[in-house]
Amino acid sequence: MPNDSRPPAARRFAGQVVGRRSLLKASGAAALAGAAGATVLGGAGKAYATDVKVDVVVIGAGYAGVTAARELSAKGYSVAIVEARDRVGGRIWTDTFAGQRVELGGGWVSPDHKLVMAEFQRYGLANVADVVPTQSVMPGANGFQALTPEAAGAKLSELFGKFFAGSQEYFPRPEDPLFKRELVAKVDPLSFTDRIAQLKLSDVDASWLHGYFAPYTGGDNASRSMTSMAQWWALGGYTYEGWERQTAFKPTAGMTALLQKMLEASPKAKLYLKSPVTSVTSTATGVEVRAENGRPFIGRAAVVAVPVSMWKKIRFDPGLPAVQATAASEGVAVGLATKLWIHLSGNVDAVYGMGTASSPMPLMIPQQAMPGGGRMMVGFAGPSLNVSDKTAVQNAVRQFIPGATVVNHRAQEWGRDPWAQGGWGLRRPGQLLKQLPGIQQPSGRVTFAGGDIASGWNGAFIEGAVETGLRAAQQVTTMLT
Ligand SMILES: Cc1cc2nc3c(=O)[nH]c(=O)nc-3n(C[C@H](O)[C@H](O)[C@H](O)COP(=O)(O)OP(=O)(O)OC[C@H]3O[C@@H](n4cnc5c(N)ncnc54)[C@H](O)[C@@H]3O)c2cc1C
Repeated sequence: MPNDSRPPAARRFAGQVVGRRSLLKASGAAALAGAAGATVLGGAGKAYATDVKVDVVVIGAGYAGVTAARELSAKGYSVAIVEARDRVGGRIWTDTFAGQRVELGGGWVSPDHKLVMAEFQRYGLANVADVVPTQSVMPGANGFQALTPEAAGAKLSELFGKFFAGSQEYFPRPEDPLFKRELVAKVDPLSFTDRIAQLKLSDVDASWLHGYFAPYTGGDNASRSMTSMAQWWALGGYTYEGWERQTAFKPTAGMTALLQKMLEASPKAKLYLKSPVTSVTSTATGVEVRAENGRPFIGRAAVVAVPVSMWKKIRFDPGLPAVQATAASEGVAVGLATKLWIHLSGNVDAVYGMGTASSPMPLMIPQQAMPGGGRMMVGFAGPSLNVSDKTAVQNAVRQFIPGATVVNHRAQEWGRDPWAQGGWGLRRPGQLLKQLPGIQQPSGRVTFAGGDIASGWNGAFIEGAVETGLRAAQQVTTMLT
């Protein structure tokens, strides 16, 4: 495939699939038509003559959907994975920029992600430590101050200790966040802004916390719940070291590599790309799933593994249960979730930059030095940054590295992505108590999966997606046996 910038593993998988049915390739309809007898009547967007009959229809080929499909396939069930995009991975997207492999979505893993670590081990995949910063630029009394990473870490550790104080009591079992429901009820209504206000910090200390959380909340610390992050803090062992481990490692072969291995280990699962699902209808014998091109997928059960923000784009009959319907209308994913890869020229140190809540780029993370000189940086945009304006991006970098020159940059705006409509999940105040555990419960023969509804590493981690994929597969198995 000319100009295919997907990583080799993705090309190989898609290539296998398309090669089986050249007719489909020509029509550009689906990437895989493994179901016997499937015939294309028209081109993309036209009707299909026959439906696809399987045991289970999985909607969405992100980590949650593929985990569920792999598990169900291993149990002998036939599975159709129906995916809207022309690629797998969803909010994980390994691509290339400036000749380098880059992650446009999630990029880091932690040894504390137990399920994901077990998957890496199972398929013989390794992880590598990320670049360690040599300098930190942090908010000061008048503008920014340069600190050693150790000094910046010590200060953040002190501030986080205050911010997350009490989490050992209200999240004593962080994998089971409602274990102390009555204590959680006292903190779940708090936003980041509320919690910072409670601490009565100096202006500079408050600006550190606001600046730290702003990229996670999409620049709106008042809109997201502090318990989302308190749970990650708890899962990391209630320490700053554990917090830092969350982003300390990267998969050596890229974030999509594990997903490819899981797909390859799913002989009874077939993947249908470019097939946005529009409706999910429960029937007397199971579930009928219809894609935009009209093709019906008939299953004895279905797993809905699309982001919560996308549930409202699918017509469910009967309608979603109240807890899912409320979550769909409120949303869980952060709207302003724009990740930038920035190629800087010259001899640039591994500078970590943390801005204030109003900075155009409140977070900059150093990445690899480039072979021909210069360095790659990852940035997260604040509301005021126009990411298509190279000068604006350069000015945003210059708040941390005066005189830096941007050679080129690439921005992925997840809030504008048609099949995510948001980035990582971060619960709103009150959502933890409102959503769990109801949001994980099946509705008839329809089950739900996705990082946004995980019990443990909720929202911003493939660990949570895998957790829910395993749960959904178990629920389906119970239904079908
Ligand atoms: C910028 C960014 C940074 C992140 N950083 C990290 C990180 O460092 N580490 C980490 O572990 N995680 C990180 N995350 C979070 C992680 O990417 C997600 O939690 C995880 O990928 C979610 O997986 P999922 O399967 O639940 O959903 P998704 O990956 O969103 O998969 C859902 C799939 O459903 C498909 N779909 C949607 N609608 C339809 C439809 N109607 N019909 C058919 N298919 C549909 C989508 O195309 C998609 O492929 C990050 C996310 C973002 C956006």
